[in-house]
Amino acid sequence: MKGICVLGSTGSIGVSTLDVVGRHPGSYRVVALTANHNVQRLLEQCLRFEPDYAVMIDERPAAELRERLARAGQNSTQVLSGKKALEDVAVLPEVDSVMAAIVGAAGLPPTLAAAKAGKTVLLANKEALVMSGPLFMAEVVKSGADLLPIDSEHNAIFQCMPAHYHAGRPAPEVRRILLTASGGPFLRKPLEELYAVTPEQAVAHPNWVMGRKISVDSATMMNKGLEVIEACLLFGMPPEKVQVVVHRQSVIHSMVDYVDGTVLAQMGNPDMRIPIAHALAWPGRFDSGAEPLDLFGVRQLDFEPPDFERFPCLRLAYEAVRGGGTEPAILNAANEIAVAAFLEGRLRFPAIPDTIAHCMDAIPAGAADSIEAVLEADRTARAVAHDYIARL
Ligand code: NAD
Ligand code: MG
Repeated sequence: MKGICVLGSTGSIGVSTLDVVGRHPGSYRVVALTANHNVQRLLEQCLRFEPDYAVMIDERPAAELRERLARAGQNSTQVLSGKKALEDVAVLPEVDSVMAAIVGAAGLPPTLAAAKAGKTVLLANKEALVMSGPLFMAEVVKSGADLLPIDSEHNAIFQCMPAHYHAGRPAPEVRRILLTASGGPFLRKPLEELYAVTPEQAVAHPNWVMGRKISVDSATMMNKGLEVIEACLLFGMPPEKVQVVVHRQSVIHSMVDYVDGTVLAQMGNPDMRIPIAHALAWPGRFDSGAEPLDLFGVRQLDFEPPDFERFPCLRLAYEAVRGGGTEPAILNAANEIAVAAFLEGRLRFPAIPDTIAHCMDAIPAGAADSIEAVLEADRTARAVAHDYIARL
């Protein structure tokens, strides 16, 4: 039995992870669960999975969880609070695998700690990798940690890569990566209508049910931009060899194009339990709970190139990865601030890329030669983005 720590267990990926873990009681023991502030859901998860530790960021909800667990007669779970506790539970000796499913830059410290400690890292938290890039990959190589992508596209690419592939190292027989994108809810919306779209329209994704931040990222296609950067890092590819392919049906989750002309694709229903189960069972396979793919129901697969005019965020992400250094961290932080402002009704949808472009222009990018340098760029970009939005 392997021990697992689920960072962000109350989110969309966290819940799907526990769904899969619950189907295989002999495979994983839940050592630790963590959440930001959803006491009710974390309580239910603690009662069902009886982890040794549960972590909440603030002490107030942690105290409430402690009290409610005691009332329910569940005293085998120790409830901790604070950001430092996230790192502590991620590196426990009884933890073999860490599901990194916190959203945004907040997930970097515990995910990096898990990689440094040589844990098997199941990486959903793409923002953590995007901002720290080569530094994160260097820690993975140094500790010998297994890094298994959970993002459906990168998990698909991982499954299509040659058997000798190592995280971060290019495979010379791979010519291109074909990264598929659904195009989100606004693929065909008249451009002049984008000014007035609401958060509710933006989070209504045609194919996937996800957290609110990644849903807005899908609507701007910044999600695909972050995924281009993620692919460059995970598979050691330059950005010009990562081609985004708009594929409306979300049945092919990405492809690898080999020098001999072979193109390998991974297919399946759009259900995150598939990549999660793949990573949990790797190098084996087990049931994910997902429905079998009905190809006769799908009938048709469509492909088209992305429209960089409609989706400036995608262009900005290519610029950031070409720029290198702290540029991806600036892009990511500005995006997090802009998306939060949009979700709170303080920013128009088209002003999301404007905010990011402003930050990338205004802040000189530096070398990303330490985590401190990355965190400093992250802080600066947040402050500049806040200022910009306040002045609009
Ligand atoms: P979500 O918003 O549903 O869940 C986020 C989780 O992180 C919650 O458990 C929340 O409590 C926790 N959290 C939020 N802010 C935190 C903070 N400041 N400190 C500590 N914990 C915090 O998000 P999600 O959709 O599950 O996405 C999680 C990550 O997985 C994101 O990086 C996203 O890009 C990636 N991802 C998600 C999907 C998907 O289908 N949902 C697919 C691919 C990749
Ligand atoms: Mg994805």
